[in-house]
Amino acid sequence: MSFEVRDRDLLARVGRLETKGGAVETPLLLPVINPTVQPVSPKTMGEALSCTALITNAYIVKKHFGSEAVQKGIHRLLDFNGVVMTDSGAYQILVYGDVEVTPEEIVQYQEEINADIATILDVPTGWGVSKQYARHTVNETLRRAKELTKIKTREEIAWVGPVQGGQFLDLVARSAREMGKLPFQIHALGSPTPVMEQYLFDTLVNMIMTAKMNLPPDRPLHLFGAGHPFMFALAVSLGCDLFDSAAYALYAREDRYMTEHGTARLRELEYFPCSCPVCVQNDPNDVMGVPKTERQAMLAQHNLYVCLSELRRIKQAIMEGRLWEHLELRAHGHPSLLQALKKLGKYSEYLERHSPVTKRSGLFFFSHLGLIRPEVVRHRERLFERYSPPEGANVLILLPQTRMKPFHKSRDHQRFLKEIERKLGDRMGEAHVCTYAAPFGIVATELDEVYPLSQHEVATPLDMETISYVARQVANYITSTDYDEVILLQDVETWKRKIETACRKACKEKGIPLTILRTKKLGESIRSSGR
Ligand SMILES: [Zn+2]
Repeated sequence: MSFEVRDRDLLARVGRLETKGGAVETPLLLPVINPTVQPVSPKTMGEALSCTALITNAYIVKKHFGSEAVQKGIHRLLDFNGVVMTDSGAYQILVYGDVEVTPEEIVQYQEEINADIATILDVPTGWGVSKQYARHTVNETLRRAKELTKIKTREEIAWVGPVQGGQFLDLVARSAREMGKLPFQIHALGSPTPVMEQYLFDTLVNMIMTAKMNLPPDRPLHLFGAGHPFMFALAVSLGCDLFDSAAYALYAREDRYMTEHGTARLRELEYFPCSCPVCVQNDPNDVMGVPKTERQAMLAQHNLYVCLSELRRIKQAIMEGRLWEHLELRAHGHPSLLQALKKLGKYSEYLERHSPVTKRSGLFFFSHLGLIRPEVVRHRERLFERYSPPEGANVLILLPQTRMKPFHKSRDHQRFLKEIERKLGDRMGEAHVCTYAAPFGIVATELDEVYPLSQHEVATPLDMETISYVARQVANYITSTDYDEVILLQDVETWKRKIETACRKACKEKGIPLTILRTKKLGESIRSSGR
């Protein structure tokens, strides 16, 4: 098995996962197939929906089909030509208390039915459990993981090493570190159902990030039980490569209609906001009118379609370097998603280190949420760690951002520099011009054409968080450099005097003079230069 990354954005990757059953592209959704009940047949999934892989439960297969599945093999049993992953059924065994199957038997059975990707019988941590129990699930899962090498007889099957620990992040970290040392090809994070059901996405972010930061980065990561398209962007952005969805069928059973923003009840819909074959050929009333089994199949098909198209959208966003924008858009689908995105701030440095440096497209800055994004963090880190002003630059001239980029080519900047030159006279040779700008903070003129300092669009008026962020960057810049004079051109309308206050404080601290020039004209010309 091999996993080759073709494109990246944030921690997301478009990759090619080679298995013995064929190659699949990630991020990948594997619909969950219950071999005893199939609202949409695996054959239809492959042919009509272009599903390249699916996942089924080895425990259920063993219980219902036993040796028949061994004789036919799982692909023929399900009538599916693509890649088949099997879960071990650990969850069912726990829930239903059936312990007749041993970890060894489940490993052997998955080999016998010829799964392409298989999972050891892990012990899910679950939710609301004591730390002591959680520790037990981590230790027992690790013990079973170590046994695998002794039990397995086939080398070509890709094995999944599940990470446990639940909401105890120190346990998740240890579980991931230890599991990562073992020769697994894929890892999985057990995401307790309540995290998904109760929309505890900030908890999920912590769990995924902790696992991700402690696992070998070159192995794909599967997120168990995350089957709703409205959170794919978040999970993919954090580096999850594989998903399984039972939700498409479970929701259909309850007449719930998935969209990429959330879930609707079929009876509440007047129109279908979707162009899949089911939605184009019917309206919600028609679907309400068909018998339950048929309706369930129609909804399941639609739900799957929405999941798959959202993943295609995400892949396109990765290729274009616009995943952050897509993530922000999706985060506005539900307050708990937005909350999760806000809390991503604490991982912003890790995200920065592992995100691509150059991109095909410029960035859109909508609000202070964008201050977490890697490009902004990277600029800040580089400015304070690597940058020093040009030799002999003693006078810092701070000009406000203009709509025109690069800033130094804007007519406003050129005009104001002429005015400043008249004031400074001979000292103009010692001047160093910087722009204070959202979202990057300080942009030195000699760098203002470097990506993405000119390749971005900012929504104005700026929000207070953004203004305060830029003001902090300005103050930090003044205090960390050695200019002996600062000249600030104010744009009160945009910056609400925050920059002025920050400069005053920083210059006082440094004991250097500050000259403040005010202009209304600039504000006007900023507003009109967009034509
Ligand atoms: Zn549809």
